[in-house]
Amino acid sequence: MLELQGIAVSPGVAIGKVLILDREGYRITRSQIDSADRHNELDRLRTAIAEASKRLEQHRRDSTEKIGVDIGAIFSAHQQLLLDTTLHREWERLISDSCYSAEFAVSTVLSRYAHAFRNMGSDVMAERAGDIRDVERTLLEALGGAPLQVSGGLGQSILLSHDLTPAETAGLDRSKIIGFCTEAGGPGGHTAIVARGMELPAVVGLGSFLHRIARETTVILDGFSGRVVLQPDEAALKDYRQRMEVRAGRVKQLTEIRDLPAVTQDGTRVTLLANIEFPGEIAASLQRGAEGIGLYRTEFLYLGADTEPSEEEQTTAYREVLSQVDGLSVIMRTLDLGADKVGKFTLLEPESNPSLGLRSIRLSLRQPRMLRTQLRAMVRAACGGKLKIMFPMISTLHELRTARMLLRQVIDELAEEGHQPPQKIQVGMMVEVPAAVLMLERFVREVDFISIGTNDLIQYTMAADRSNEYVADLYAGHDPAVLRLLQTSVDVAQAAGVEISVCGEMSSNPITSLLLVGLGVRILSASPASLPQMKQALRQVRLEDCTQIAKRVFDFDTAREVDAYLKTRFAELLPEMALGV
Ligand code: PEP
Ligand code: MG
Repeated sequence: MLELQGIAVSPGVAIGKVLILDREGYRITRSQIDSADRHNELDRLRTAIAEASKRLEQHRRDSTEKIGVDIGAIFSAHQQLLLDTTLHREWERLISDSCYSAEFAVSTVLSRYAHAFRNMGSDVMAERAGDIRDVERTLLEALGGAPLQVSGGLGQSILLSHDLTPAETAGLDRSKIIGFCTEAGGPGGHTAIVARGMELPAVVGLGSFLHRIARETTVILDGFSGRVVLQPDEAALKDYRQRMEVRAGRVKQLTEIRDLPAVTQDGTRVTLLANIEFPGEIAASLQRGAEGIGLYRTEFLYLGADTEPSEEEQTTAYREVLSQVDGLSVIMRTLDLGADKVGKFTLLEPESNPSLGLRSIRLSLRQPRMLRTQLRAMVRAACGGKLKIMFPMISTLHELRTARMLLRQVIDELAEEGHQPPQKIQVGMMVEVPAAVLMLERFVREVDFISIGTNDLIQYTMAADRSNEYVADLYAGHDPAVLRLLQTSVDVAQAAGVEISVCGEMSSNPITSLLLVGLGVRILSASPASLPQMKQALRQVRLEDCTQIAKRVFDFDTAREVDAYLKTRFAELLPEMALGV
């Protein structure tokens, strides 16, 4: 039995057999072979090396001819690496001595080298790590591998992988994959958010561990604590099966409060909305008691597609959302592509620092045709009804004004074409960059509502990439700096009489949701699965308790102190819930 500790990003427990994906997303079907097959496996490896070498030689010739010798030289370097006899000896030893499959031997050795190069702290060496991964991919292909079709043909498994993109996560077949663990990834990444939306237990940021899995094995994945147990013994399995039963009982209890209002003991009403990525999540949101959709992440329409979705396709998707909510409000956010959300069709040149680059509204304003198409689809979908449109990652008033101008043009254009305009279009912005908080007094004059995106607000305030496990300790919504920005935002919005909600993941956690209510927020939008728990917490406390918490947190200097205080106070107020959070 081997226990690992990672970052819990999507609650739930899963027990099952592992399915290993290598660093390049190739499925390693077998990690071990029978000892009698060792000679065959060595032959397979040698044939694949020869085949891969031929392919690289062909790439070298083609690219030298078409692009130039500099690019051709890259393939020569890959070929040299592939033909390195030290590597061959290491692969052969793993096959002969440890009965590894050829794929697993290749992946294990090359992952180790790539990891070592990446950690040398030099850009040149990091590039070398990229070369090693390219060689790995070529060789795995020559061994007959193909990128994983995670959606089909597998039994029920727990996926283990170096990393998963949000689009790959969204493409997982929930009936086949019952949870996933990754070496990379941070607490606020979109992969984590998608996992929560899909109610798929997940642990990320485990660090290098794939090479330690010697053979197909059973794993316990605890998405509450971040614990991952490989090859669990009977006692661990029994313990977790019991916990799963207790949790199932609690979930049942929670469904009973679905139709009750989210109101504190002393009568303060809080509106609970759902964050969704796909129209298909609406039914689950309504079942969990959502009173509307506080954030529809429309970019997921693009992430799963091979080509840019047309105006018609988008109109259909947005209509579907509006018709399903039956009159409840829906905040449609315009495209928030870039950084960790990159689709199959390339819109973006690679950037060295994409989170600070051409992401979100910046990209939309650079490619106004795409934003225009989307806005046309939204306005058409809402014909005659109510529409709320929100622009993401606004940093300057100029961006907001340009986006609003495009929207006006689209409405006029559609009217000229004979479409009936929506009754009223409310326009809002996400507050997720500290610059927006600092200028909020000006912004609130020009919007109908604001929604705080704490996921990004934390990232940009703390200068800590939300998807990076190495800085996960800095990425804290309860950091005193973030708390100050939240308080300022609430104060400014309230003074201006502008509706304010929070749609970042801080809403989803019952502990921080009480803090947000204490700060003055009355609309929380969260992943559908967390709504019942949030409601349960709110219904058991008084507003006065929340306000007290929100005052007290400002006495502390560090995120750790705030965290310790919040946990203690939560355990005092809601002892039963504290055990499960
Ligand atoms: C946020 O940043 O808090 C947010 C809700 O948007 P996203 O997670 O999609 O970036
Ligand atoms: Mg955001």
